[in-house]
Order: sequence, then C-alpha cells, then structure tokens
Amino acid sequence: MLYLTDPDRLSDVLAEEPRYRSTQLHEWLYEHPVLSTTDMTNLPDGLRRDLEPMHWPFTLDLEQTADGGRTVKWLFRCGDGSPVETVLMGYPSRTTLCISSQVGCAMGCTFCATGQFGFDRHLEAGEIVAQVAYANAHLREQPLPNSPSRVTNVVFMGMGEPLANYDRTMEAVRRMIEHMQLSARAITISTVGLVPGMRRMLLEPWPLNLAVSLHSTIPAERSRIVPINDRYPIDDVVAAAGEYYRVKGRRVSLEWTLIAGENDSDDEAIGLARIARDIHAHVNVIAVNPTPMSDDAPPTRDAMQRFVGMLRSKGANVTIRDTRGKDIDAACGQLRLRAEER
Ligand code: SF4
Repeated sequence: MLYLTDPDRLSDVLAEEPRYRSTQLHEWLYEHPVLSTTDMTNLPDGLRRDLEPMHWPFTLDLEQTADGGRTVKWLFRCGDGSPVETVLMGYPSRTTLCISSQVGCAMGCTFCATGQFGFDRHLEAGEIVAQVAYANAHLREQPLPNSPSRVTNVVFMGMGEPLANYDRTMEAVRRMIEHMQLSARAITISTVGLVPGMRRMLLEPWPLNLAVSLHSTIPAERSRIVPINDRYPIDDVVAAAGEYYRVKGRRVSLEWTLIAGENDSDDEAIGLARIARDIHAHVNVIAVNPTPMSDDAPPTRDAMQRFVGMLRSKGANVTIRDTRGKDIDAACGQLRLRAEER
C-alpha cells in the first residue's frame, strides 16, 4: 500500500525502477495528489496499472455534499472493512479537513455517535495522511466554491481520540508538515483531555494547535458526559492546557458542545469563562448534533445566545461554531451510523 509506506522509503515499492521514479511517485502522492494512478502522467502505463490496486488504503463507500457544495463528507472503508469518516469544509480564506485518527473511540462521550460504537482499532499514520491526500486529489478535480483549492487546515476532530493513538498521530503530523507543505500552525490536535499525551506534545518540535474538549466545568457532570474525567480530572486537564500555552506560545481552544439542560447553565458559563481567562484560551461553542442513540438535544437559539452572552460578559473570547452538514449526518460517527443502517 503506497500511503502505508514511509514517504522516504518509496523506493522499496519501486525496487525494479530507476531511482527518479520514487521522486515522481512522491510528487503524485503528497505534493499534487491524484485520485487515480492513471493520472500519474509521467509514469509508464504498465507501472500505473501495477500501482493502482496499491494506491489508496481505503475505498470510497459514501460521499455526501451539503451547504451549497461547501461541505463534503466521505465514508471510506479500509481493506478490513473498517469505516473512516472525513469531512471537508470550505470557507472564504481556508479549506479545512476534519480527519479521523481511530476506527471508533474508547472514550465513550455520551453525546457522540462514534463513542456509542466503541473502539475498533487505531488508524495507521498512512491511513491518517491518506485522508488529506484524498481531499487534495478531490479538490484538484472539484474545488469547493470560493475556497482555496487545497487543504489549508487540518483538524483531528473526526472519529477517535488522537492522543490515545499518539505515535501514529504524530507520525502523520510529521508527514503532513515535511511532505505535504502543511504548516504546523494550521494543524489542530483535539483531545478530550488525555493529560499524559498533552504533556508529551510539549516535547514535539512543532507549534501545533491544541483543542481541549471540556463540555462541563462541574466534575461530577463532566464525568457523566466525558467519562475519562474520572481518570484525568478537569483540574489536571486545565493545568496541562495552561502549560501548553506557556511553553508553546499557542493559544489553546476550549471546545464546548452545548446540550440543552445539561451544560447550558449560567454557572457553567461562569466557570468556563474563568478557566478561559486563567489560561488565555479561546472558547468554541457548538450545539450538540442529536444522534439516534442518545436523548441529548441542542439548546434553543435563545439559550445558546444567553450562554454565549454570559461567557462574553465574564471576559471570555468565544466563537459559535456552525454545525456544518447538519443535513448529511456530518457530526463525527453519524455517517457510519447511517451506513450500518443500510
Ligand atoms: S467526542 Fe471524541 S473523544 Fe469523545 S467519544 Fe467522540 S470521538 Fe471519542
């Protein structure tokens, strides 16, 4: 499998070919990816045919488009049938790809369709990177309206907890930076608060963005929504996030999935604003995307505005994140859910 091979070792799969073929193949895989080896125009026909079955580590199972063509969601299937979800979102100044790092997830967050499936396996570094390459290959043929025609930003916010798959995640990050010209400042690692992984990130050479999912500031309530809070309590998570800001100089973002009647109270807003101020973090609030396996409902528009207004009045920097692709099950794990129902 081409993407499962270290980009520096492509000559291993081209043993019979002259050395310059590895440079050509590298360009087609990482710098200017194409959907099919038939488009690798400077490779001989026979080689293109031989490489085709090895090209992608997955096949496309489902593709859905929403938001006037500005959101595209893919469900891929790996060779072992494992589902991988990836979402491409176009904005005027950036094209963001939300990628998966695991098949399923062991964290069990109550509002999340992926968490409700449980954990299957880690994705390999090559399976993570291939999602970015596939998106670039797709954009080459079908750019999103009024958005850059290459992935400019990558967020690890799809299926899985990237810091639970630490080594493969960081190897994927290395390949994106060293082989795909992505800036570390344009890559965001999102975690539900795995403190040891957050501390390991301090030692990485890159100024990656860190997003920490809090969802509640009240320990017992957070443990209910985010069960890993029992192992890594919120105070330790916030301390690790604050250290990341101090050491790396990168402002951390605090993610808050707003659930009606669960974490939308004034007390929660006041507690969240205090944490955000203390560690100079930015708050992203997003309404929960309902899933069939949970009763969690999004807040009303008024409740959302009140929560965000309270945060701002207490001095927090806040962005309301739009729920892209609502009509296509774009929240993490939801497309897989749809596919399993077929
Ligand atoms: S929200 Fe993230 S960490 Fe929690 S279960 Fe879903 S994929 Fe895992």
